[in-house]
Amino acid sequence: MRIGIIGGTFNPIHYGHLRSTEEVRKALLLDEIRFIPSALPPHKPQDEVAAAADRLEMVRIALEDYPAYVCDPIEVERGGPSYTLDTLEELERRTSAEIDMFFIIGADAFLELSTWHKPQEVLNAVNFAVTLRGDQNTPEYLEALLRVIQEIEPGYCMDKSLKEAEFTDRKRVIKFVPITEVDISATRIRQCIKGSCSINHLLPREVEIFIIRRRLYGHSGIVN
Ligand code: ATP
Repeated sequence: MRIGIIGGTFNPIHYGHLRSTEEVRKALLLDEIRFIPSALPPHKPQDEVAAAADRLEMVRIALEDYPAYVCDPIEVERGGPSYTLDTLEELERRTSAEIDMFFIIGADAFLELSTWHKPQEVLNAVNFAVTLRGDQNTPEYLEALLRVIQEIEPGYCMDKSLKEAEFTDRKRVIKFVPITEVDISATRIRQCIKGSCSINHLLPREVEIFIIRRRLYGHSGIVN
């Protein structure tokens, strides 16, 4: 069994998350994708973040139509700052040895890895699937990613195909997965709501209805 894990604030979840994970699922032949909303996001300003229970519920609602997708409340239930390493260790305890896990992350976010809590332990705890948008899929960009990786863990070497970096001693791999660029972010959605413009087609309709009903992100409650 091969599982993809995607952590994030999901403030709110949107089609950028859903489309990119679907492309990774197909490229890496994953059996399941596990969405893990964070409790307190350590890298984000706290003022614009919806309550963890609401973000979790929006992920649950969004995944209803995707049979291979699961919403995992592990970080919200643990509470406190959501460190990826704690989550990976807990998942490791819960899962059998035959399961291969891939942590799915955008290349921009991956470039910040050295600022995470215990980055070397994180790199050694799980395989990665790093998504590359069109303009990021170049040898120069991959070189920059490799530099970040090797500064944290020198054991990784780039494969000749430039499709993955491997740390053979630890049996760990970092896959680079080109994806279609979807110009949607949660920031853009929150800004749209503030500016009273429509968020239709940026996220599943049922999630939009939840935002309207709960008046999240300053929504007026009026459907436009
Ligand atoms: P915000 O705009 O609030 O910073 P976000 O839309 O970037 O949020 P996050 O919850 O921070 O969403 O992202 C979780 C993960 O999803 C990260 O790995 C991020 O790189 C990835 N991601 C977010 N938006 C997209 C997108 N449009 N296409 C591909 N991956 C995305």
